[in-house]
Amino acid sequence: MIVILKQNTTEAQLNNFTGWLASQGLDVHISRGSYETVIGLIGDTSKVDEELVKSLEMVESVRRISDPFKSANRKFHPDDSVVKVDAEGKVAFGGGRFGVIAGPCSVETKEQIISVAGDVKKAGAVMLRGGAFKPRTSPYDFQGLGAEGIRLLLEAKKETGLPIITEILSITHIELFEDIDVIQVGARNMQNFELLKELGRLKKTILLKRGLANTLKELLMSAEYIMSGGNENVILCERGIRTFDNTYTRNTLDLSAVPVLKELTHLPVIVDPSHAVGSSKYVESMALAAVAAGADGIMTEVHNDPLKALCDGAQSLTPEQFDRMMSKINMVRQAVAK
Ligand code: PEP
Ligand code: MN
Repeated sequence: MIVILKQNTTEAQLNNFTGWLASQGLDVHISRGSYETVIGLIGDTSKVDEELVKSLEMVESVRRISDPFKSANRKFHPDDSVVKVDAEGKVAFGGGRFGVIAGPCSVETKEQIISVAGDVKKAGAVMLRGGAFKPRTSPYDFQGLGAEGIRLLLEAKKETGLPIITEILSITHIELFEDIDVIQVGARNMQNFELLKELGRLKKTILLKRGLANTLKELLMSAEYIMSGGNENVILCERGIRTFDNTYTRNTLDLSAVPVLKELTHLPVIVDPSHAVGSSKYVESMALAAVAAGADGIMTEVHNDPLKALCDGAQSLTPEQFDRMMSKINMVRQAVAK
């Protein structure tokens, strides 16, 4: 249920009202927009007397929301959320803030991560990615450097000033992520609900990737797991899904996810074309299409020597290819700017 308040509602009236709602066992989500204040009621609203709420002087209107996702719902929060990566918001996504995240699939050596970090920064990336814990299909493949990978990422941050994003695979590793700026929940863990609940207790920004065969509603429900725990700093990421034809591409990039999600939720939506297409040949065109579709950011894999990469070399751009793509991204952004 959402309650829209009249413009002249005082702080005291608002506190009185939210106090009453809390006494009914409901959580409230308050969104102060430029034109109206929207109160989202979270919990069992079936016993709330709609007529009684409507009769209150400060109430403009009341609407029942049937969508199962509440905190993530745009009806609860009409303005775009701007999700900050650092405390001052030097890097942020959503509400007009756009950024490109780039780096190797996995951290391999100090030289590799520092060299890629420097190259992507020079080309205009706002954040460095790199996997320390890798979710590989085969247990015989490189599993990542683990804690050492995180240490190397932090060295790259010190060297370049770029904030860091890296993927978490297990709750048991959570302490290792203390100095990491954004924690990534990968496609394979999108429905690891115990992990999501734990991340909901943090204040850190979480990048939540869509699962290989998950609907947009399921993605939003997973975001809801994090947000209902108190962590509203969630960025969504479309990274391609399994379809009947993944002969020539690793997955199928569902670009319609961008406008659809942006209608359904106030959370920022970014696109990872690398894992979607699986080949560096197609990454640029899909990145440009995602920008034109209104994505709040792009995440791509870049490697200093893709042929020797320990993971996902085929889809990794060289620093030169990345630099070219960045110039084109800037042109597309200008072309579609409102
Ligand atoms: C990744 O970004 O390194 C990754 C493993 O992606 P995904 O979870 O989308 O497969
Ligand atoms: Mn990868």
